[in-house]
Amino acid sequence: MRDPRYDILFEPMKIGPLTAKNRFYQVPHCNGGGYRDPSAVAEMRAAKAEGGWGVIFTEQTEMHHSSEITPFIELRLWEDQDIPALARMADRMKSHGALAGIQLAYSGINGPNLYTKEVPLAPSALPIRTFTNDPVTARAMDKEDIRNLRRWFINAAKRSRTAGFDLICLYGAHGFGIFQHFLSRATNQRSDEYGGSLENRARFVREVISDMRDAVGETMALTLRLSLDETIGELGFSNAEVRDFIEMHGDLPDLWDLAQGTWEDCSGPSRFKEEAAQEPLVQGIRDLTSKPVVGVGRFTSPDVMVRMIRQGRLDFIGCARPSIADPFLPKKIEEGRIEDIRECIGCNVCITGDMTQGMGRCTQNPTWMEEWRRGWHPERMNAKGPSSSVLIVGSGPAGLEAARGLSLRGYDVAIAEAREQIGGRVTRERWLPGLSAWGRVVDYRQYQLSQRPNVETYLVSELDAGEILEFGFEHVCIATGASWRADGVARQHVVPMRMDPAMPVFTPDDIMERRHPSGRVVVYDDDHYYMGGVLAELLARESCDVTLVTPAPYVSDWSRNTLEQAAVHVRLAQAGVKIVLNRGVTRLRADGVETNCTYTDAREVLPCDAVLLVTSQQANGALHRDLLARKADWADAGIRSVKVIGDANAPGPIAWATFAGHRYARELDEPEIGDALPFRREVTALAR
Ligand code: ADP
Ligand code: SF4
Repeated sequence: MRDPRYDILFEPMKIGPLTAKNRFYQVPHCNGGGYRDPSAVAEMRAAKAEGGWGVIFTEQTEMHHSSEITPFIELRLWEDQDIPALARMADRMKSHGALAGIQLAYSGINGPNLYTKEVPLAPSALPIRTFTNDPVTARAMDKEDIRNLRRWFINAAKRSRTAGFDLICLYGAHGFGIFQHFLSRATNQRSDEYGGSLENRARFVREVISDMRDAVGETMALTLRLSLDETIGELGFSNAEVRDFIEMHGDLPDLWDLAQGTWEDCSGPSRFKEEAAQEPLVQGIRDLTSKPVVGVGRFTSPDVMVRMIRQGRLDFIGCARPSIADPFLPKKIEEGRIEDIRECIGCNVCITGDMTQGMGRCTQNPTWMEEWRRGWHPERMNAKGPSSSVLIVGSGPAGLEAARGLSLRGYDVAIAEAREQIGGRVTRERWLPGLSAWGRVVDYRQYQLSQRPNVETYLVSELDAGEILEFGFEHVCIATGASWRADGVARQHVVPMRMDPAMPVFTPDDIMERRHPSGRVVVYDDDHYYMGGVLAELLARESCDVTLVTPAPYVSDWSRNTLEQAAVHVRLAQAGVKIVLNRGVTRLRADGVETNCTYTDAREVLPCDAVLLVTSQQANGALHRDLLARKADWADAGIRSVKVIGDANAPGPIAWATFAGHRYARELDEPEIGDALPFRREVTALAR
């Protein structure tokens, strides 16, 4: 069973009047569902309860209507009407002995109030600080406002107790919570007893915690979530001041929850940050307080977790993303199944659910946010159907996830892969700068498949329709992936771009096959996610003189949704890449590219020796089409179904492929649902 080395992770730990069953602490995290999809959120948290987490939190919960962060979808506790949805969450969180926590957020200078139309309140009158630069200014709170806000926190605490929560986290991190706005000299420019000295700036949080202790403190524990450093230099709530504050107020909350910087800093992607990246900032803080400390750092390795505790850095292992990628992480450590941990790859696709107001997705865990909607359990598959054998053509993320799910259901699975290695695009992309952790998508599945008796993998086996018809599998799953286009078609050009054949043209596939340009290279990025930026960085490192041209106003525009964009820009600037924004490429000449301003269409020639087109991908759909053309032969060959999935169906990010693979595995042999919706939806009940 459990390796005794990890026993320390399973020690019960006191938090105020309560005891957590172990040190695994799921810190608050968004998910895209929030108040729109409360049952989906509740069941997502329930999966973590079953997976062994000792403490489980909600995402940020707007605790009063005078501060909300529309368009982002979090939770709301504005009035008693909101209690039932939250009570369902608390109940599901506590279903396996975890403590249930609610994070109360008053967003102050981060809340534009686009829904409630209330004037935002903040310590000082300043423009609202949001991702969208809303043209809204917060009013400075007067003494009466402060008294009101204290009372609203008490109301919210009582409602949280009624809803069944054990812990309340006061949000003062990431620039999002009002406690930070008071504590930071940057956002608190008051001259009364709530501003100026650290003692004064800390008055508000002291008062709120004292009020809440009086209201609910005997039965509930209170935690305070701060950033280890506001990351805006000395003016902000710096690491030195955070330490001073904790030293002065060591016993203030029942637990210190130490996040980091802005959300971008805290949820640093693997492309830019290692596991345990915050260690130097948290080191020594535990000595300043008698209360337990939780910190984060994309922890997926139990050895790193143990070290964080043994070396006195942390008392609790805080996880958001690792708990999304594998809700059963604690249980797997407890059961001595370390190899089964589905490690987070640090791609931050989970964050795009919140950023796009879509539904959360996880590259590694396709069941995330589908626990209630589709009844997908993160560890258990549905029972096997009547048929028995499946051929999967292609071993990229779609094919591998389909194989994993089908093998768990009990099907006999054969995977045919044209190349010498499995993994498809992931195997090719993991060698690019910053993407090595993404290889875990393949590593996890490769190991899981190696443990299954009912999966055979055939490498160097490029199949055609004739061969597939000869094999006689009952089901054929085509997961043959996609290829990057060399004709410039994407968003600017919906038909092929004009090109002088004298200009050497490369695609991302060429680069991944180690066919590289040299000299002056224009990278034309009309794809807008990571590939353009990654390849510009790679070529710059290989001594090319790189200019990245994109019609978007940001380099790697879509990576704003993964909180990577700013870091991508910095990385490229440091690598010497010239960045040209808001310009397209109209045509390729023999001596360079003709660019155009996306607003005025003004043209310019940019001389270069080669062009790398990062435009769009085209599905490798030929095999599927060939099989469809021979549909009349299927019955004789014993084939009952042929389906195309993943990038071979429609190219997208890796998370879309693992989702498609998982869905295929779940739905094989399941009854046809006709025109019905393939997932459950929560529809708002009309008010009486
Ligand atoms: P996805 O992201 O949808 O999983 P990938 O491009 O990552 O797609 O993976 C597709 C895999 O399919 C690649 O490894 C490719 O070599 C393999 N493949 C493509 N065509 C065939 C074929 N006809 N027979 C066997 N394997 C194929
Ligand atoms: Fe980790 Fe990516 Fe999953 Fe987020 S989407 S939990 S970063 S693997």
